[in-house]
Amino acid sequence: MSLDGISGTSDLQAATLDTPQTPTADQVREQEIRTTLTNNPPALEALDGLVGDDNYAQLDEAQKLQALEAFAATPNAATAAHQRGQAAVALNPGTDSSLLAPDAGMLTIGGQTYAIEHGQLLDAQGQPAGTIGNDGSFQLTGQEAQSVYDDINARVQLREQVGNETVDLLSLHPADPNGRLDNANLNPQIVERAEAVLGQARREGLDMRVVSDFRSVEEQDRLYAQGRTTPGEIVTNARGGSSWHNYGLAVDIAFNDVRGQPAWPEDGNWTRYGEIAVDQGLEWGGNWQRFPDRPHIEFHPGFGAGEARNLLNTYREGGLDAVWQRMGIGQ
Ligand SMILES: [Zn+2]
Repeated sequence: MSLDGISGTSDLQAATLDTPQTPTADQVREQEIRTTLTNNPPALEALDGLVGDDNYAQLDEAQKLQALEAFAATPNAATAAHQRGQAAVALNPGTDSSLLAPDAGMLTIGGQTYAIEHGQLLDAQGQPAGTIGNDGSFQLTGQEAQSVYDDINARVQLREQVGNETVDLLSLHPADPNGRLDNANLNPQIVERAEAVLGQARREGLDMRVVSDFRSVEEQDRLYAQGRTTPGEIVTNARGGSSWHNYGLAVDIAFNDVRGQPAWPEDGNWTRYGEIAVDQGLEWGGNWQRFPDRPHIEFHPGFGAGEARNLLNTYREGGLDAVWQRMGIGQ
């Protein structure tokens, strides 16, 4: 290799190359968000779409930080689209604000279903009933502004016209359509945490739902027998009293498919779900070495994951209340 190759480098370029680059505040923040979302590839892709946007690139540092904070709070493609729209409007005040709203989709909330047309909510008769933005905020005529993310049982689909195609920016189905989290045999502390997990998962574009809640000791014994002493496939490795489901301290969460039916996709974003659960102080079954159980989350302060059986006698003597009292999470 000859040295001639270097002669093409101008002094200016050389100076630029030699100057240590101090990252700007928005670059630092962007990197933090990327680290948090390492295990949520669709959210990272949405972030790429935001920071790669021409208008975003022209924002000043404070504006970029603001856009990044909005994205970090609700990191999905709809938020990214909204922030791209915000950037366009900030730079060119005359810009069509339709960039901030979904072109199509639907919203079912509070028992009412609305079609979405260019940011308008239309009721069953096709009459305008309110407005909705890609940030998930919506306002029904004569009511306060709300967010689709505040109701884990909302059905929300925000769609955008891209060329000749209409694509989903966000599609979430009800997270607890069967009201499993309302089961009085679940301890309120796991209910609260499971709701928080589902809320965050939805903000990150993960369309998840509760598929299992409380299971009595007797039911657990029946399940344990299945595939061992009774017909069928093995479905659990826990005997009655050795699963936290038996004490109302575990919940199973899976995905919704495109029709809103429960699904356990191999390529589902289980890892990110598990991280969100751990952040809520829960133990995630996907972390177990011997029998990983990705849908499973449980809450048992003061007890190890394998110590559920130590509570069986307490349960037999005093039921769930006695177990929860002993664990310091009684009502
Ligand atoms: Zn489970």
